[in-house]
Amino acid sequence: MNTFERLQVINKELENYDTQLIAVSKTKSVEEILEVYKEGQRHFGENQVQELNEKYDKLPNDIIWHQIGSLQRNKVKYIAPYIGVIHSVDSLKLLQEINKQALKAKRIIDCLLQIQISDEDTKSGLDYADTIELLRSDEYQEMKNIRIIGLMGIASNTPNTKMIKEEFHDLKVLFNGIKESFFRNEDSFKELSMGMSSDYKIALEEGSTMVRIGSLIFGARDYSKN
Ligand SMILES: *Cc1c(COP(=O)(O)O)cnc(C)c1O
Repeated sequence: MNTFERLQVINKELENYDTQLIAVSKTKSVEEILEVYKEGQRHFGENQVQELNEKYDKLPNDIIWHQIGSLQRNKVKYIAPYIGVIHSVDSLKLLQEINKQALKAKRIIDCLLQIQISDEDTKSGLDYADTIELLRSDEYQEMKNIRIIGLMGIASNTPNTKMIKEEFHDLKVLFNGIKESFFRNEDSFKELSMGMSSDYKIALEEGSTMVRIGSLIFGARDYSKN
């Protein structure tokens, strides 16, 4: 299959859902991204700030860039002027830095809180108690230049689809609870970023509004090239 056909298969799958496709282009070249862009795709996801900056400079400016990987606080300033959505907010301190840099850039930056939903401790994210504490904190209440628009999670890397389904389901339940407790009157809190190439169909069934798909669109990543 070529790029067009691969995108078509995924978009066909998404037709029945109100879900945004984010094409995860990490490690892929500007040329490869342009091929996908030419098919109409506008949302792209990256996880390395330097790589993202280089691509931002070279690619059309109607692309909406999503920061999907863990983000170091000292790098926020490089993406604050243009980033569309930051999916990987996993601490109050990171959120404070985003707020500070957004203020400097005279912007309001949309953020998702990354929630730990798998058992794997390699995957970062807030747990339930951290999330509540963050949302209740005075520091958060005072932030004017960020907007939390939902939650993000990465399921366990396992062939056990029942387990993946449960993890996504738990995230949806948490989302509903947080919506009710903290964002009842805020229509912008509506995003649930979950699902990747291997598990996006399960994520769609569980209520995902943003799927982050890389290898299924671009082919497998070859890290040895970098
Ligand atoms: C790389 C990455 C993806 C995409 O992974 P694929 O398996 O290639 O679809 C999605 N989300 C995050 C956070 C990633 O780092």
